[in-house]
Amino acid sequence: MPGNYGPLDDAHVFELYPDIQLSRDNIEHYRGLAQGRLLINRCHDCHHWIYPHRPMCPECWSWNVKPEEISGQGHIFMFTLLYQLRDPKSMIHEPVPVAAVELMEQKGLRYLSRIVDCAPEDITHDMPVRLTWLEEGDHLWPAFAPMPGSTG
Ligand SMILES: [Zn+2]
Repeated sequence: MPGNYGPLDDAHVFELYPDIQLSRDNIEHYRGLAQGRLLINRCHDCHHWIYPHRPMCPECWSWNVKPEEISGQGHIFMFTLLYQLRDPKSMIHEPVPVAAVELMEQKGLRYLSRIVDCAPEDITHDMPVRLTWLEEGDHLWPAFAPMPGSTG
């Protein structure tokens, strides 16, 4: 069952994500996903969160960048409804709502993710959302669901 791994070595992370180009900058992010933790790189000198993954802080040019777990709370900055599925056997039904979720940790820190537990027509800009996890085969994938009480 996904999400129940203890410490995962690099070889195991590569095995879990054969289609993803893993690098020194993003492997901790994927190791976290496999364990049901959403990790975003953060500068440990000026505390700026850095996403997409980069090895150097764009604010203070520090290389002292390490992954940290985020709170999982944010709001929808923008979203779209996808009508193109690549895998006909996928359990996902169209349209697939995909959003840039602005995380509460920092203005402008936006994570692209699926929106679940909400009818597509009920999704609105600025809607408060929280992190949840989808189990698909051997994987856990992050998604965001409306905060309780935030939809009419
Ligand atoms: Zn910095």
